[in-house]
Amino acid sequence: MLRTTSIVVLTCILISGPASAQTAIEWQQRVRYEMDVTLLADRHQLQGEQRLTYYNNSPDTLREVFYHLYFNAFNPQSMMAERNRHLPDPDPRVVPRIFELGPDEIGYQRVEHLTQNGRPVSFDVYDTVMQVTLAEPILPGDSSVFEMRFHAQVPLMTRRTGRDSNDGIDYSMAQWYPKMAQYDHTGWHADPYIGREFYAPYGTFDVRITLPAEYVVGGTGVVQNPDEVGHGYGTHASSSAPATSGDSLTWHFYAENVHDFAWAADPEYIHDRFTDQQGITYHVLYLPAYAEVWKNQRTWLPALTEFLGARYGRYPYPQFTVAQAGDGGMEYPMVTFITGNRSPGSLLGTTAHELAHEWFYGIVGSNEADYAWIDEGFANYISTEALAHVSGQGEASHANALLSVVRARRYGFFEPLNTPSDWFETNSGYSVAAYAGGESLVEMLGYVISEPLREQWLREVVRRFLFRHPHPHDLEKVAEDVSGVQLDWFFSQLLNTPWDVDYGIRDLDSRPDGSGGWTTTISLKRHGRTVLPVDLVLELEDGRYQWVNVPLTIMAGHKPVPENWIIGEPWPWTSSEHAVTVTLPARPVKAYLDPLLMTPDVSRLNNETGIPLNAAFLQPPVPNWLAYSLGYRPLGQYAQGYGFALGAQARGTYLFDYLQTKAMVKVWPQVLFGEGESLRPEIGPFTDGSAGDGIDYEVSLRSPVERFGPFAEASFSSQKHFGYLQNELAFQTRLGQRLLFSALERRIAFTINHRYGTDPRIYSPTAFLPLYPEHTLSAGAGYLVARGKNRVRLSVELGSSLSDDGFTGTTTRMLADAVQTAPLGPFRGTAKLRLGLSGRDLVPSRLNRLGLATVLDAWQNDAFRTLGAAFDDAVENGRFAPLAGVGPAAYVLGTVPTGRHILAGRLEVSTTGLFSNPWLAPFDAQIYSGIGEVWDGTMTDVFRNDLPLAADAGFGATYDVARLAPLSRWIAQSDVLSTLRLAARFPVWVSKPDYLDEDDQFGFRWLIGIETDL
Ligand SMILES: [Zn+2]
Repeated sequence: MLRTTSIVVLTCILISGPASAQTAIEWQQRVRYEMDVTLLADRHQLQGEQRLTYYNNSPDTLREVFYHLYFNAFNPQSMMAERNRHLPDPDPRVVPRIFELGPDEIGYQRVEHLTQNGRPVSFDVYDTVMQVTLAEPILPGDSSVFEMRFHAQVPLMTRRTGRDSNDGIDYSMAQWYPKMAQYDHTGWHADPYIGREFYAPYGTFDVRITLPAEYVVGGTGVVQNPDEVGHGYGTHASSSAPATSGDSLTWHFYAENVHDFAWAADPEYIHDRFTDQQGITYHVLYLPAYAEVWKNQRTWLPALTEFLGARYGRYPYPQFTVAQAGDGGMEYPMVTFITGNRSPGSLLGTTAHELAHEWFYGIVGSNEADYAWIDEGFANYISTEALAHVSGQGEASHANALLSVVRARRYGFFEPLNTPSDWFETNSGYSVAAYAGGESLVEMLGYVISEPLREQWLREVVRRFLFRHPHPHDLEKVAEDVSGVQLDWFFSQLLNTPWDVDYGIRDLDSRPDGSGGWTTTISLKRHGRTVLPVDLVLELEDGRYQWVNVPLTIMAGHKPVPENWIIGEPWPWTSSEHAVTVTLPARPVKAYLDPLLMTPDVSRLNNETGIPLNAAFLQPPVPNWLAYSLGYRPLGQYAQGYGFALGAQARGTYLFDYLQTKAMVKVWPQVLFGEGESLRPEIGPFTDGSAGDGIDYEVSLRSPVERFGPFAEASFSSQKHFGYLQNELAFQTRLGQRLLFSALERRIAFTINHRYGTDPRIYSPTAFLPLYPEHTLSAGAGYLVARGKNRVRLSVELGSSLSDDGFTGTTTRMLADAVQTAPLGPFRGTAKLRLGLSGRDLVPSRLNRLGLATVLDAWQNDAFRTLGAAFDDAVENGRFAPLAGVGPAAYVLGTVPTGRHILAGRLEVSTTGLFSNPWLAPFDAQIYSGIGEVWDGTMTDVFRNDLPLAADAGFGATYDVARLAPLSRWIAQSDVLSTLRLAARFPVWVSKPDYLDEDDQFGFRWLIGIETDL
C-alpha cells in the first residue's frame, strides 16, 4: 500500500552547472588495431600479425608502453593460479582445473617480433604483462605504429576464454591477442591478469581471422565480407554454407569505438539473424540442442535493447551478437558469451545483464580492475529495471541487492566497493561489493536525490562519458550537477567504508496545536555509522499518509519532493539523534522509516513505531527483513504418571538469526489439580511432588554478539520438563577468519549450567533413567573441528552437585568424540570413536553406559524425552532405548555395563539415498560392528586384562525424521521431530553372551530406540 504512494516529480528542478560540463580529464588515448590471424585448429594455436597505431593524446612523453598477454594466465604457475590457490572460496571454474592444465592445454602468447615505427624494440614479459622500452619516445599529441608477430596457444577453457567449453563450444576467443594497456591521468594500468577485469583505450579494430571453412563465427564488429563467408551472414541469410568452397575462410571484422574485440567459433552453431525496428541487427549463435530456449532471444533482445536505449541512451553499435560460449556470462563490445544450458529465466536474466554491460562497460569504459562496482553494479541496476519491464512485473525491486549487502555485513565478509577487484579477500566479498554493492549505491542515490533524478544521473553519465573512461569522482560530479546537492559524503562512505546502515524511530510525540492540527515530534536515531538523509511516512488517524524528508545539513539542500511532503529540519551528521517537529492535519498513529526499502538497513525492527511482527499459526518462523517472525502452535502430550498435557509454543527469529526466541508452556491438569500426586504411585521413592510439577515451560533467547565477531553468539535458556529444571548461559563462536567460505569449521563454546530435579517420577531409578533430585552447577567448554560430516569434538565439564541432602557427586568429566566418513561406492563408511574420562564421585546422570547415551544426554534429546515418557518402562530391556550410536549396541539387552570412563568405537557401512520416494528417503540400512568398555578406577586401567571389553556385530536400519521432506514445515516447528532418528539394531553376534544371560555368541536379537547425536 505504501508502495503505491507515488512520488510525483517536481519538474522545476534544473540541472545546475553547465549541461555540457566535462570532467577535468579532457584527454584519452586512442588505438587502431589491424590484425591478421590464422587459427591452426588442429593444434589449437594462433599465428598472428598485429599492426597497432597508438595515439598519445596525453600531455606526457611516453618512454615505455605495456601490453597484456592474457593467455599467459592459464598455466599452473601463473599469478592467477597462485591467487586461486590461496582464496578461501576459489572460483570453481578455475580450481582445480588451472592446476591440471597439461603442456598442450595451457595458454600462452609469445611475441616473436616487435617494432616501433619500423625499429625493433626490446621488451620484458612477466606473467601476463609485457613491458616495452620504446625505441623513440612518443611525444604528446604524437602517435607510433607497433608491428608485431605473435604466436599463441588457446588454453583449454578455464576462465572466460579458451577452447572446448563445458557445453561443447570449440572456440570462445576472448583476451586472445596482445593488447595495449590503458594509460590515463593516473598513469599506466598494466594490471596482471588475476581474474578481474579489464580497462583499455578506445579505438578501431580491423581484424581478419582465417580458420577452417566449416566454422561459424560471431564477434565484435561488423563482418565486412558477408557474402564470402556465408554461414548466415550473406545477403541470403537462409543460406548456411559459405559462398566460397575451400579448406579455410578468412573472416573480416571491423569495429569502431570499442575497447576490446572477442569472437567465438563452432561448426555446429545455429545462426539466428534478425533486425529490430531501430535497425540494430542481432546474431544469436547456439548449438541445436539448446534451440528451444535460445530461440526466445528473437523476442527478448529487441525488447531489452529498446527499453535500455530509451532509458539510458541509444545502443550505439550496428549489431549485437549473443554467442553460446565461455563459462558463464561475459560481456564484450557488441558480443557476449553465455553458456548454453539454461532455463528460460536464467538465459533471459543473463542476457539482460550482459546486454546492459554494453552501456556500462562498452559505452562508459570505466576501470573495471579498480572500480568493479561501476560496470557490474550499474549493469545489475539497469538490467533489473529492464527485466521488470520486459517480463511485465511493473516496478523493479532492488531489495535483493540491498539484502545481499546486509548479509555480507552480518557475516563479516563485506569489503568497501573501491577495493581493487583482484584484491578482495574472498570471491564472495568481490561479488557482493561489485554487483549488489554497486546496485545498492545506485538505488540509495535515488533515496538521497530522488528516483527521477537518479535516472537522469544515469542518462547523463552515459551521455557525458560516451566512449570515455570516468572515475568515481566523475560520477559524483554528475550526481551533484543533476541534483544540486552536495554528495561527497555519500560517495565517500559508500565507496570507501564497510559501515552499517541502521536508522531507527525512537519516539513519536503528538499534541493538539489548538487549531485542529497536531504538533508532532519524531525522534530519530542513527544506530549504524553510515550517515544518510531519512524518508519517513506517518500514518494518520484519518487514514491518510504524510511523507517527511529529513535532509542532512552537509547536503546543502534537499531532494525534490512532491508538494505535499514536509521537509524536516536538516540533520547535522555529528549528532546521532535528531528530532523533527511537524504540524499535521490529524493525529499520527504510526511512523515508518525508509518505507520503500531503499537502504540496506541492518535492522528494520526499529524502523517503525512499535515492533513489526509477522506471526503465523502452525508455521515455523521464517527470517524476514521487514518484521520479527513468529510461529506459534498448540502442543499436546501424554506421559506415564502425568496424564495428558496441553500447551502452546512460540518461536521467533529475525533476519540472519538475530534474536532467536522460544517460549513454551505446557500444563498437566491431573498433576496440577491433583496437587502434584503421581498417577503412578508405585514407582517411588520420588512421588511427593507438588502442584508446580504440573507446569512445564521453556524460554530461550539466542543472538549474535557482534563485538566478538560475526559468528559469536550468546544464549540463555531456562526449561523445566517433568519437574526437572535446566538453566543455561552459553557463548559460542567460530575460530579463524573467512569462516563462511571454509569447509573446515572450528568452534568453541562455553556454558554455565544449573540443573535441578525435584520430581523425576518419569525417569526414576526403576525406570532406568536415574535423574536424582539434585542441584548441579557446572561450567563447560567445548571445542569442535568439523569438515562436513567428519568431526572431532572435545568437551570438558567441571562442577558438582549442590544437593540439599549433602554432596552426591561431581560433574567433572572429559569427552572426546571423533567421526570420520568416506564414500564406499554406493555406500558410506563411518568410523566413530568416543573416549570419556571422569573424576571420582561422578553424579549418576553423567555415568557412561555401553551402547546407551548417558541419562543426561538422553534427557536432553527432545525426541527421546518426549516419546520415552509416553511408555511404561520404555527403556526396559532395550526395547526403546536412547542409543549412543557408538560402541556395541547389544548390551542394552542385558545389564548395561556402566562406569566413569568409556572407550568405544564403531564401524558402519550404510546405504545412502536408497529410496527416492520422499517418505522412504530418510531410511538407511547398515551393517555395523562395535567394541568398547566402560570402567571405574584409574584411566590407565583401560589396559587391564580383566576389564569387560565387549563387542558385537550385526545389521540395522535408521529412519531420520529430520530428513523427511514432506513434513519439513512440521519438523521445522518441532524439537521432537527434528531430533527424532529412529534406529533398529540386530546384533547377531556378541562377544560376551553371558552379559545377556545367553550361551551362544550368535543369535537373533533386536532392539529399537532413538539414536542420539554423537
Ligand atoms: Zn557483469
